[in-house]
Amino acid sequence: MSANLLKESGPREVFCGLTSIVWLHRRMPDAFFLVVGSRTCAHLIQSAAGVMIFAEPRFGTAILSERDLAGLADAHDELDRVARELLTRRPEIRTLFLVGSCPSEVIKLDLARAAERLNEELQGRVRVVNYSGSGIETTFTQGEDGALAALVPLLPASDERQLLLVGTLADAVEDRLIHLFNRLGIGSVRSLPPRQSSELPAVGSGTTVLLTQPFLTETARLLRDRGATILKAPFPLGAEGSRRWMEAAADNFQCPEAKVREVLDPLEDRARIALAPHREVLKGKRIFLLPESQLELPLARFLHRECGMELVEVGVPYLNREQMAEELPLLPDGTTVVEGQHVERQLDRVRAGHPDLVVCGMGLANPLEAEGITTKWSIELVFSPIHGIDQAGDLAELFSRPLRRRQLIHSALHPQPSDHPVHA
Ligand code: SF4
Repeated sequence: MSANLLKESGPREVFCGLTSIVWLHRRMPDAFFLVVGSRTCAHLIQSAAGVMIFAEPRFGTAILSERDLAGLADAHDELDRVARELLTRRPEIRTLFLVGSCPSEVIKLDLARAAERLNEELQGRVRVVNYSGSGIETTFTQGEDGALAALVPLLPASDERQLLLVGTLADAVEDRLIHLFNRLGIGSVRSLPPRQSSELPAVGSGTTVLLTQPFLTETARLLRDRGATILKAPFPLGAEGSRRWMEAAADNFQCPEAKVREVLDPLEDRARIALAPHREVLKGKRIFLLPESQLELPLARFLHRECGMELVEVGVPYLNREQMAEELPLLPDGTTVVEGQHVERQLDRVRAGHPDLVVCGMGLANPLEAEGITTKWSIELVFSPIHGIDQAGDLAELFSRPLRRRQLIHSALHPQPSDHPVHA
């Protein structure tokens, strides 16, 4: 391994796991996410999913009052009442996720017991599961890991030979990937999370898992315990990573090499063409990735190897060496990879390093922009359809766009003589 791996700890500036409800509730429209938390939690989830205020939301917050937090009221009774009211009002809900938060953890509200109680009462009409989205020592993408891990024990058992894609993908991206796997000769491809929470995929010794996201550590562990094989591969970001990811499955399913080349070669050629204009902007530019989404290592690999960017520093909230075993060797020699965060020190290094672009959380982006540093919100990468070979150009554009915009603003503010039309 060639990267220079460091660790640091201190004050952190990241979103909490509740944020993942924003993409999970879109993925499973028959599920409801009931956050058991404070007004702060309600505000966070409302503003993160702001557009949803125009629709009937599929998430809400059971607000813990000061009496609950002081242990003066029975929060369990109140939670049961809110859940019952919700399920009466919304009979289309098939799965109710009770999502823990910092306040519910602080008062040690036992959501597993609450889920058990409600499951007994509802007798299969609605499935109630619980997980934690709390921001204590977690990052925002771990919310998805918690939600999927809560579903694993409920998956039916089957030893049928199948490929299971684990991690939320945009529907159109998923359809395309399934089509490509079918063309390679892999006929049975299922997904977790499924598009309907009531249609859970089966799992067993015939299941081969491809993780679509690098933050699903606990889900992967539980699937392995259920007999599944977790494939080792780079993550499907960029043409190279996506190709290797698909090749790992093709190898496991013993697809003929000629078929793999026939399907993937033209896609890779097209991706190189789509990448070219963005590479022109990005080549030689220096990027600093602050730790937040857990996508940082695959992104850094893509930005360096396919877009020609220089990596000043790659921060990761935590480093799962096993899951990143195929990514780390693809980074250039001596890349500084810092696990954890001391936000003040990291910002000092950003200022000292003068990068052309910083990938960071929304809370840090505005102050950095005010200092003249170009930024990209890391959360945007989780909301955008960026997976797969076909998306490589779009992924690169997410990084070239802010640099182009900065260049345009700069040109407008500081016009060069050559920018003006020449009059005879
Ligand atoms: S779960 Fe914790 S970090 Fe997240 S909004 Fe609620 S109080 Fe804040």
